[in-house]
Amino acid sequence: MKDMSFALTDEQRALKAAVYELCKQHPPEYWRDLDAKREYPEAFVSDLTKAGYLAALIPQEYGGAGLGIMEAALILEEINRSGGNAGACHAQMYIMGTVLRHGSETQKKQYLPKLASGELRLQAFGVTEPNSGSDTTKLQTTAVRTGDRYVVNGQKIFISRVLQSDLMLLLARTTPVDQVKNRTDGLSVFLIDIRGLKGLEVRPLRMMMNHSTNALFFDQAEIPAASLIGQEGKGFSYILDGMNAERILVASDSIGDGRWFIEKAVAYSSQRVIFGRPIGANQGVQFPIAKAHMAIEAADLMRTKAAKLFDAGQSCGPEANMAKYLAAEAAWDAANACIDAHGGYGYAEEYDVERKFREARLYKTAPINNNLVMAYVGEHVLGMPRSY
Ligand SMILES: Cc1cc2nc3c(=O)[nH]c(=O)nc-3n(C[C@H](O)[C@H](O)[C@H](O)COP(=O)(O)OP(=O)(O)OC[C@H]3O[C@@H](n4cnc5c(N)ncnc54)[C@H](O)[C@@H]3O)c2cc1C
Repeated sequence: MKDMSFALTDEQRALKAAVYELCKQHPPEYWRDLDAKREYPEAFVSDLTKAGYLAALIPQEYGGAGLGIMEAALILEEINRSGGNAGACHAQMYIMGTVLRHGSETQKKQYLPKLASGELRLQAFGVTEPNSGSDTTKLQTTAVRTGDRYVVNGQKIFISRVLQSDLMLLLARTTPVDQVKNRTDGLSVFLIDIRGLKGLEVRPLRMMMNHSTNALFFDQAEIPAASLIGQEGKGFSYILDGMNAERILVASDSIGDGRWFIEKAVAYSSQRVIFGRPIGANQGVQFPIAKAHMAIEAADLMRTKAAKLFDAGQSCGPEANMAKYLAAEAAWDAANACIDAHGGYGYAEEYDVERKFREARLYKTAPINNNLVMAYVGEHVLGMPRSY
């Protein structure tokens, strides 16, 4: 097994510092303004792409940096630690993995170099549906093969960054559920070009935070048969293959959020004087911050363990899931400690705490809600009876 110590290498520390420096060129006002207008951080994502950070996980032979998940995790952590929102771009890192692992050589050569250079953007991942929610195998969107095309019909909900992407990874049913042995069979993954795709209507949804999220309606949308990734009917297992990377990366968003809240809370409560002393001297203010800091550090250890196992090619399902859960909960504790420490100012837009508070909350719910992570740990890690 590779090195399992938890210290970062010199290269990883330098990477963190460089990402933080790039992020600082997009100050809090930038994110605040976009949040108010619910606009996509084009300039930030473009800078991140040009610097090669979004292509961290794309192998060098396809034009990427060929780094590990640990490095990708540190990049996302620093974005959120700096006050930005990696949610605008983190998906490309894990969606691309499905193409890399299960796409044909032709598909990889066609898409990966263009994703690495920024010529194409793949930030959209269409899984969730109004009638199936977390129960993915019950999704109802169908893709029916007719000659050299598939015809797609159905609805998706909460699909982010569709209007900012050229490509979308889509999960649809290609064999009706009553014709398969296991309900996990008969689902297929497609990498589709959504620029001007006829039969696809995109309706933006105004959400609690700036997340470019949409409802999608497919009505006889025709996509080339060549957009199928891997084998027809095996899509669910391809999506599952990408889950560990997704969990580790999303945990890193939360760890970055948590660190931002702690830094803000410590700075503010150390200088704000009420009743003749800094509010941070009061244990009612200090202890929740200290407690949240410990939780973030613990989540970091679990995230790092998961990432090291992943990069060493070892199985890491329990660690990746636990990291996502622990980090999302720790960030939420840090968010509450931070907003409490700021009193009324925590609710004022110019302090950014309320914006980060809204952004950090998402990861308790998406891309998988924490109840389902607990069900995974209870049922698959501890072997307890199944609830579904
Ligand atoms: C801002 C935002 C962006 C998103 N972006 C995307 C995207 O780009 N692509 C995409 O495919 N999806 C996306 N999602 C969807 C997200 O992944 C889902 O919202 C999430 O998986 C939960 O599905 P649901 O909302 O249908 O909740 P449901 O499945 O209806 O669950 C509702 C609640 O019930 C509880 N619950 C359900 N079943 C169980 C159970 N068996 N045991 C215990 N508790 C249970 C959970 O706590 C859950 O919070 C996004 C969501 C949001 C809010």
